Amino acid sequence: MQISCVSAYGIAGKCFIVVDTDEGVSGLGECSPMHSPTIGRFATEVLAPKILGENPLETDRLWHEMMLSTYKLGAQGIQPEATAGIDIALWDIRGKVMEQPIWALLGGKYREKIPMYASIGGGAEMTPAEMAERVDAAVARGFRGIKIRMDWGAGRQDRGLDKDLAMVRECLKITGEGVPLSFDANNGYSVSGAIRQGRRFEELGLRHFEEPVAQFDYPGIAQVADALDIPVSAGEHEYTRWQFRDLILQGRVDIVQPDVVKSGGITETVKIAVLAETFNKVFLPHQTQPTVGTAANLHICASLKWCDWPQELPPERNEALEGIFEHPLEFYDGHFVVLDRPGHGLVIRESVVRDAELYGRAEA
Ligand code: CA
Repeated sequence: MQISCVSAYGIAGKCFIVVDTDEGVSGLGECSPMHSPTIGRFATEVLAPKILGENPLETDRLWHEMMLSTYKLGAQGIQPEATAGIDIALWDIRGKVMEQPIWALLGGKYREKIPMYASIGGGAEMTPAEMAERVDAAVARGFRGIKIRMDWGAGRQDRGLDKDLAMVRECLKITGEGVPLSFDANNGYSVSGAIRQGRRFEELGLRHFEEPVAQFDYPGIAQVADALDIPVSAGEHEYTRWQFRDLILQGRVDIVQPDVVKSGGITETVKIAVLAETFNKVFLPHQTQPTVGTAANLHICASLKWCDWPQELPPERNEALEGIFEHPLEFYDGHFVVLDRPGHGLVIRESVVRDAELYGRAEA
């Protein structure tokens, strides 16, 4: 079996990869959607020539062919994000050829269904009451946890600590004892601001404190993590096992958060999971893409013994996006059932692919 074609499509604002083989089996992958057309072109113009004509079942060898031969184009960002889309498609092909779900190829599943938490962004622009309203709707949908995100970015530092705290208190009135609440500073505090705020979060019983300071400030992350008891997390801006090694050893986070559509796909994310387990860190992937990205993440999480925290999902349904698949993931009672269909289990409708924006294509 040989890889015969790699295509990148823009569909409903997302970047999907389709890998075809000479035996008629195809795989579907997804890349991080930021700068989608550029990532799609990178996948088809730069990475595809490395794997055309190769055996799609050799996922680890092809991962290294793609990543190690294109490293001068950046080991952070577009290169691993484009690799991720192709890698997920290759795992989908592996599953279909072997007639097994990806969780089985990864060694089996520890759980039948995965609890989900709602990840609610835009906090910086909202009043506490507005955020509480969003939280209320998510709790009503049955989510098993809530995270409120501030979307600040690095370099903001500490304007409005009291407002952030007021928002947390307002949301806690909704979540109460039953639904854990987490806070994501999106890199927006100084070290001292994060430590002061983190102490208040500890008193209030928050579940975890995400990206308290700038993502590139490993010594600062370490200072915050060392000072606080509340678990401190980061990782959505890291891409490979080597960057996660540094985040763990230098940043000393308690929770590591790779994203399968960013950090090189399934092949690399399971290696990062082993690293997290070895260092006794909580493995809690970042994941904002509710279809293929989430499906790939569910297979990984199901196959890991210690990965039992609720997983990230946007709070509202995206019916237009769900509608592009023959059988979308079904959110029920705060969970997704781990799919038993071959591959990751999501099949895109042919008519959708026909009408999609083609970012690029490479053929053998
Ligand atoms: Ca985050």
